[in-house]
Amino acid sequence: MDLPKHDLLIDGKRVPPGGGDYSTDINPADETPIARVAQGTAEDVERAVQAARRALKGWSGMRAATRGRILYRFADLLEAHTEELIALESLDGGKPLASVRRQDVPAVIDTVRYYAGWCDKINGQVVPTRPDALTYTVREPVGVVAAIVPWNFPLMIGMWKMAPALACGCTLIVKPAEITPLSALRIGELALEAGVPPGVLNIVTGKGSVVGNALVAHPGIDKVTFTGSPSVGRGIMQGAAANFKRVTLELGGKSANVIFADADIEAATRAAASGIFFNAGQVCSAGSRILVQRPVYDEVVDRLTARAKAIRVGDPAAPGTTMGPVVSAAQMKTVLDYVEIGKREGASAVAGGTRIGERGFYVAPTVFANVEHEMRISQEEIFGPVASVIPFDDEDDAVRIANGTAFSLAAGVWSRDIGRVHKIAGELRAGTVWINTYGYTDVRLPWGGSGDSGLGREHGDAAIENFTEPKAIWLSLRS
Ligand code: NAD
Repeated sequence: MDLPKHDLLIDGKRVPPGGGDYSTDINPADETPIARVAQGTAEDVERAVQAARRALKGWSGMRAATRGRILYRFADLLEAHTEELIALESLDGGKPLASVRRQDVPAVIDTVRYYAGWCDKINGQVVPTRPDALTYTVREPVGVVAAIVPWNFPLMIGMWKMAPALACGCTLIVKPAEITPLSALRIGELALEAGVPPGVLNIVTGKGSVVGNALVAHPGIDKVTFTGSPSVGRGIMQGAAANFKRVTLELGGKSANVIFADADIEAATRAAASGIFFNAGQVCSAGSRILVQRPVYDEVVDRLTARAKAIRVGDPAAPGTTMGPVVSAAQMKTVLDYVEIGKREGASAVAGGTRIGERGFYVAPTVFANVEHEMRISQEEIFGPVASVIPFDDEDDAVRIANGTAFSLAAGVWSRDIGRVHKIAGELRAGTVWINTYGYTDVRLPWGGSGDSGLGREHGDAAIENFTEPKAIWLSLRS
């Protein structure tokens, strides 16, 4: 069977890759090939950067309200193509259709509308300095942006970067993850259809070590916005230093979900289960460490075990499926290797711990009990459906364990004591803290972490700052 062939999107046109190579994109649900995807080269990056540089003046110089109108039209087109985007995202990444419908696509549309509204509100200030001068600031687009996107939320994380950059008047080259490139190519086409001019939004698919590297090294790129693993993020920061590109990094997590004995245990365990098993645990803010106060430890382990066993793992397209496969054979191996590490370290796998079936990359929802804080399964990001349940004694102990990894992306705290939850929220080292809930994100709130979780924030007005440079202007009033 002839597979659909996907070319690059450069300067408003679908073009074959310079080297003529295509990779085979695999459906993680059944391991069948679904498409041939262009493997971009450094020369393709060069062409895309030139196109983005040429398009910069027209896009950034456009009336802000007109740019906003184009982005609103883009959002409307995305909405009109909801079913197609849901199908594509589910097929490429193995996400259950129902969860893409409920979360990813609505969030993508919301993100575009939110930043469309920003276009004509990116103001400067008049700043009083001296009586004989008018001094004011403007915010100018940072320039040409490289957006490097991971595979766990290709549409949503891609749009978290594209929408604010476009609103600020920047032009972009987007590099989707090699294994989930399909939705980015499609939304690039829809952006063109909405009236985003050719060259403003270019999509170059291919390997991180080729396309990603070439983007980071290219002197024509002014900013890199990256979401992915800490090790690649470190390399990007080093590479960007060559010409002092601006860098925003959203990296990994090992988030703690802290459950005190006085919490609503039913609500806490329900949220803790979805906090780690949603998207098969492939979530940067997954609550992969569930910290439980000792008096309720056994009860929480039992409830989590029951919930893990009740999850309907299977075909993402089937109604009723609540968890699909992990994204690739490599990711499945990583997760199963960690399960073995956990067992060797002395933790008890009370649920899951195995592959399901022999076709498709399905891993059973896994709960480890008797986990100690120092174990590797408690310290390292697994990025799969594996919960480590760790006991604690009191508030100090909880905060010590919660803050005791290299990450700081997110955390949750559960208690009916309102004073306690505020105190603990203040003490947790995390970019986001959820109190008596877990996992929500909204483009209006800052998102990101520090340490191994990254550098800078996305969303809200933080993203507007990321994609603009302030300029101070002096006008003499002396006659
Ligand atoms: P990854 O770092 O392997 O890849 C991310 C992207 O970087 C891909 O597009 C990849 O092709 C590209 N890349 C790889 N090598 C590169 C190089 N040398 N130069 C430039 N680009 C390169 O990460 P992944 O496996 O796709 O995603 C999983 C990771 O992403 C996890 O660690 C997860 O926690 C993190 N993540 C973080 C957030 C967040 O918001 N903080 C969100 C989602 C995922």
